[in-house]
Amino acid sequence: MRKINIFDTTLRDGEQSAGVNLNLHEKLEIARQLERLGVDIIEAGFPAASKGDFQAVQAIAQTVRNCSVTGLSRSVQSDIDAAWEALKDGAEPRLHVFIATSPIHMQYKLRMTPEQVVETAVESVRYAKKYFPIVQWSAEDACRSDLPFLATIVEKVIEAGANVINIPDTVGYITPKQYGDIFSFLKKNVRNIEKISLSAHCHDDLGMAVANSLAAIEAGATQIEGTINGIGERAGNAAIEEVAVALYIRKDYYQAETRLNLQEIKRTSSLVSKLTGMIVPPNKAIVGKNAFAHESGIHQDGVLKEKTTYEIISPQLVGVQSNSMVLGKHSGRHAFRTRIQELGYSLTEEEVNRLFARFKDLADKKKDITDDDLIALILDEKLDMYKNFYQLCSIQVQYGTNQIPTAVVVLKDGEGNDIQEAATGAGSVEALYNALEKALQIPVTLLDYRIESVGSGRDALAQVYVKVSLDRKEASGRGTAQDVLEASAKAYIHAVNRMFVIEKMKEEQALAAQ
Ligand SMILES: [Zn+2]
Repeated sequence: MRKINIFDTTLRDGEQSAGVNLNLHEKLEIARQLERLGVDIIEAGFPAASKGDFQAVQAIAQTVRNCSVTGLSRSVQSDIDAAWEALKDGAEPRLHVFIATSPIHMQYKLRMTPEQVVETAVESVRYAKKYFPIVQWSAEDACRSDLPFLATIVEKVIEAGANVINIPDTVGYITPKQYGDIFSFLKKNVRNIEKISLSAHCHDDLGMAVANSLAAIEAGATQIEGTINGIGERAGNAAIEEVAVALYIRKDYYQAETRLNLQEIKRTSSLVSKLTGMIVPPNKAIVGKNAFAHESGIHQDGVLKEKTTYEIISPQLVGVQSNSMVLGKHSGRHAFRTRIQELGYSLTEEEVNRLFARFKDLADKKKDITDDDLIALILDEKLDMYKNFYQLCSIQVQYGTNQIPTAVVVLKDGEGNDIQEAATGAGSVEALYNALEKALQIPVTLLDYRIESVGSGRDALAQVYVKVSLDRKEASGRGTAQDVLEASAKAYIHAVNRMFVIEKMKEEQALAAQ
């Protein structure tokens, strides 16, 4: 069996998805889960891009011990310096440096000749090798590059010390056969290719990211880059869970394996979906709600007689639990704390106490508290770093089919002052958001509003995701509550608070730069 390394870029390419902006705590939580999942490399961000990115990459490098942590860098010394500062405390510091190699990118974006591009690439790899034990070099837009030129530059950067060569399909243009051919071409035409490992990085613009990644493996790639749930720029990246499960289920064919702990897939997928607000479509392979649901009578009958008639993947393989009822009204603090630990979360005593109070409150209204409920509560409590900003105290909404919906809200601002406002609207949520906008005294535009239930049943928790903008700056927020209106209000406040935090960080950055 060949070993395939998994390079996860959920926190870099995935975070570039439109409307996704994760804070430091959220990124750390995802990184810890990726470590449990067993990915080989975590791309934690782009350290030179912003102070926030730098801090997140640094915190992840300092926290994660069982995988290599990397950061992206352009082929300039200041980027490489910043990346080293952020990554040097990691268990295995690794740089991911790139430059574009396609005629279109070299001519219009870089405004450099091919010779200049080769020179810059070689210089940046040499410079990076002074710090980093492992340097990965990427040919941006490799799939639209001239192949002999690609082979030349790859050979030169290997001579300069690159350890991994990545061939990204940056624009999602290639087909599986063609992509495999590029890897075969390089294997045949690059003299020192045996010294390094080849990596694939695919985008899903034509729906072929996973197929292309698998074709690369067949042609000799030993590293696959992708994201959880396939999130990422435009149509997204190759979904790591799909690549890993395809290799596992079809090991007879691919003769290759990953180090992933497949049973952590479902949990990783839900965490990423919750924190990014990117909802997983029900029909999504491996992690969609319907991925294991047999609907037609003939199929159901077959599965009852013998599972393998219609089921090629067992839900248990990827950690989908059929029985997740865990706690109830009479569960004590000890059982509660143990379950949280089993779910992989470490909380402070104070956090456990606050959470236990909320759990008891919920258990009064909801009979069974599932793992999904607990995780929703934990994420709500633990990742709320905005306690110094606006807090929701209470809401009251009046709705009747023949009356104008009216909402009254009470908030607390950062200084602890109460603010109370009332407003009407065409519907309950609009009335509520109008009242919140009045209380905050800022013109907030609502760009997106989505609601989901956590688990099933009439008493299920509601989870609301919103995206708002203010002066063309966007932020997303989420809120969980048993009542949909309360969850809606929480999500709105969460998004607004995030916007203030982002602004505050930018101001501090501007001050520091002066
Ligand atoms: Zn990409």
